[in-house]
Amino acid sequence: MTEMSEQERLNLLECVERTGTPVYVYRADVIRHQLERLTSAFADADLRVMYACKALSTGAILRYMNELGTGLDTVSIQEVQLGLRAGFEPSRILYTPSMVSFEELSAVAKIGVQINIDTISVLEQFGSTFGNTIPVCVRINPHIMAGGNERISTGHIDSKFGISIHQLRHVERIVASHGMCINGLHMHTGSDILDADVFLQGAELLFNAAEAFPDLTFVDFGSGFKVPYKPDDIATDIEELATKLCQRLAAFNANRSQPVALWIEPGKFLVSQAGTFLTRVNVVKQTTSTVFAGVDSGFNHLIRPMLYNSYHHITNISNPAGTPRVYSVVGYICETDTFAWDRKIAEIRQGDVLAFSNAGAYGFTMASNYNGRLRPAEVLIRDGEILPIRRRETIDDLVRTEIDPT
Ligand SMILES: *Cc1c(COP(=O)(O)O)cnc(C)c1O
Repeated sequence: MTEMSEQERLNLLECVERTGTPVYVYRADVIRHQLERLTSAFADADLRVMYACKALSTGAILRYMNELGTGLDTVSIQEVQLGLRAGFEPSRILYTPSMVSFEELSAVAKIGVQINIDTISVLEQFGSTFGNTIPVCVRINPHIMAGGNERISTGHIDSKFGISIHQLRHVERIVASHGMCINGLHMHTGSDILDADVFLQGAELLFNAAEAFPDLTFVDFGSGFKVPYKPDDIATDIEELATKLCQRLAAFNANRSQPVALWIEPGKFLVSQAGTFLTRVNVVKQTTSTVFAGVDSGFNHLIRPMLYNSYHHITNISNPAGTPRVYSVVGYICETDTFAWDRKIAEIRQGDVLAFSNAGAYGFTMASNYNGRLRPAEVLIRDGEILPIRRRETIDDLVRTEIDPT
């Protein structure tokens, strides 16, 4: 990541001026730029980018993705419905759930959305219910560890996700006995690909597995494209990864009558850097051990630091020339609620606006009303225009679903 430009700082202050804090601000040009990086890196393949909308599912963002021509990767019937409302054709939506009811799976299948099954027993049930009438993608767990953080890795041996690569023969038996049409193979190994070669080992297993499925029209390599969070962070080398993957795909397709397309499911890669979360400093509190900067937000609005110990760069956009000092930035939730320890930030005064970078993915979508707090507003900056895309909640929103039994 790079330091914030003066223009960017002024845009963010303008958003605060109009909307107040806390507010999530997204930049359309950054989303488009990230998408173009992928499409040009994978130019040699028949690529379909399925945006993993659990990262950020606000309608205006989904409509923008649709406009840019992405598909959608969803994990619940509600996300499917959000996608349909945003104008996505069912055929451009992939449904990759975990542990959902068979009723939900069937309902989504009947809409015409591409189903991705990750459990042997469910595959069996699906086969005996629908036979060959609805094509199915199968999610494979290749048991590779692509990332560093246990909690956001999904490909290892203890993971609940996917059908083990060692159960392939069983999958083939089920498919054969129900005459099922398997049109896709899928893997999603974890959230951070640090090493292209580890990822390619998983891909190799998937390509080998794919030989057994003549009806395939696509292979889906999930996501895990890491974006830089800290100034000196390494990101996934997308260009290198894409080159190698495209070469392997071409070799695979050379032996097939029908070439398969390459699907990927980036969430974070498309929207993380596009988003900034803006908060105002309520209190600067000096204790015996540290200086706390307490903001008008907390883990109810941005839970990633508390949940994953993730790093969000923090900039004091009200005092860019201030002398850097060491702060602990905390929230107003009545629990341990720390955004950052021992962070060097330009001198913070009460009322200053702090900007949290890389907040586009898993920010708003993970927000809650804990402590009775209202969820933030959201703003999209597009073609130089500041467009509100979600208003701040009110106390009425907070009680809207309640029933008084008296
Ligand atoms: C969460 C998820 C993604 C997106 O992961 P990112 O790290 O945000 O890119 C892609 N595919 C599946 C199946 C997921 O569950």
